[in-house]
Amino acid sequence: MKSKKEISEIFDKIYNLYPNFKTELYYKTDFQLVLAVVMSAQATDKQVNKINKEFFEKVENPDDLAKLSLDEIEKYLKSLNYYKNKSKYIKNLWEILYKKYNSEIPNNLEILKTLPGIWIKTAKVILWVLYDAPYIWVDTHIHRISNRIGFVKTKTPEQTDKVLEKKLTLSQKRKMHHALVLFWRYNCPAIKPKCEWCAINNLCDYYSVI
Ligand code: SF4
Repeated sequence: MKSKKEISEIFDKIYNLYPNFKTELYYKTDFQLVLAVVMSAQATDKQVNKINKEFFEKVENPDDLAKLSLDEIEKYLKSLNYYKNKSKYIKNLWEILYKKYNSEIPNNLEILKTLPGIWIKTAKVILWVLYDAPYIWVDTHIHRISNRIGFVKTKTPEQTDKVLEKKLTLSQKRKMHHALVLFWRYNCPAIKPKCEWCAINNLCDYYSVI
């Protein structure tokens, strides 16, 4: 397993490839970002953005959703996986935010993850984007590259999340998530990673044994 110093060196190199990257999800208001994140489960940012160019013309804030029926929301979302569930979450979300939080998005992980359609990973995404919160959230891809490179030696994304939460500095958590997403997407996919020209191949455990 890599030391903190080695992780820092690798992170700097990856960050230099994708500096200052922000989310690719389309949104204008904080509420729209929350909706886009809920919609993005098991869907690509591209699919979600396509829907939201039109959907967000109608829905800017929680009160706007009150005017739409569940059927109408489903019509917008129907090209997404699990669109019926996602539509229900969205319909319920506005009411809770409107009634309990004065239409504000809570800046609190524990509260956010209790809202419909939001789990720990998506709550961290929301806090990271809206409030610059120092979180890293581990999905199967981040778990895979973390083990490949040698940041961790773990069996599940949950274990990886725990180790990275402890090993990384606040600044690394604040800066790194999206750089890591782009890194696995464009450099280190599950099949055929581009090891030959990878910027960190001299530091990667996987590359050292192939
Ligand atoms: S050397 Fe290969 S396996 Fe290692 S991080 Fe780069 S692309 Fe991924």
